[in-house]
Amino acid sequence: MKRTFSRPIKRVVVKLGSSQIADGKMQPRTTHLYSLAKQIKELRKRNVDVVLVSSGAIVLGMGVLKESKRPSDLAELQARAAIGQAALMKLWAEVLKKVGLQCAQVLLTWDDFNNSVRCQNAKHTLNAILKQGVVPIINENDTISTEEIKFGDNDKLSALVSQLIHSDLLVILSDVDAIWDQNKKMLVGEFKEVTPLIKTVSTGTANTQVARGGMKTKIEAVEIATVKIATHAGTPCVITNGSIANVLVKLVDGERIGTCFTEKENKTLNVDSEHEFIRSHFKNS
Ligand code: GLU
Repeated sequence: MKRTFSRPIKRVVVKLGSSQIADGKMQPRTTHLYSLAKQIKELRKRNVDVVLVSSGAIVLGMGVLKESKRPSDLAELQARAAIGQAALMKLWAEVLKKVGLQCAQVLLTWDDFNNSVRCQNAKHTLNAILKQGVVPIINENDTISTEEIKFGDNDKLSALVSQLIHSDLLVILSDVDAIWDQNKKMLVGEFKEVTPLIKTVSTGTANTQVARGGMKTKIEAVEIATVKIATHAGTPCVITNGSIANVLVKLVDGERIGTCFTEKENKTLNVDSEHEFIRSHFKNS
């Protein structure tokens, strides 16, 4: 039986962590990204908007500098991010061009989410990019903002973006097929909320030279994205393996892949706008 969503999927935010972008040698996973580009093209043909939240700037920056060890100094990491961001966009531009698509770079900081004017600007710009049929590629602006460097590879950023642009689905691509329970059994299926068990088993963070964040920050992202705000229903989230063949198309088609968290219809937030919610979350974090 197919997975059913409460509304048609017309807009998808796809979050790709650093391990989706580069291999253990800090080199681009071009074949993998080309396969995702083909899936994005297929979704665009069906008039589904796709927004990418892509990490990978730091690892690619390390690759450019031929480094294998991640620096510990923050400014050094920020320098790798600045160097690698150019490589990251070149990579996305190349693979998307092969399928006839174009991309746009959008760099955001936490302060942008804390300011209603900047928040609205970001939202309108993203909508205008999508209207042109271009794929927005969002990353944190690591040169001036360090939240994601310290805490988890854009998971939370992808959830805030999902809320901001009223996405119908957030897909968090990982290198495992689904969340594991304490017995290492995959929790493939639908969950109405993040249970205490899921929270307990999702604390591990890989934090290798390439992967950052682990499941903990992904679960935090789920908790942000699924909340219903005023009249805008929350966004269902799926955590699954980016290497599953045609994963994005299958998910939009309702194939039961990964761990799916449905939107929290029963937890409406008493705020008037997505910005108010984002701002309240910003303050609490
Ligand atoms: N925004 C960062 C990037 O694009 C975060 C990931 C990290 O800490 O390595 O690389």
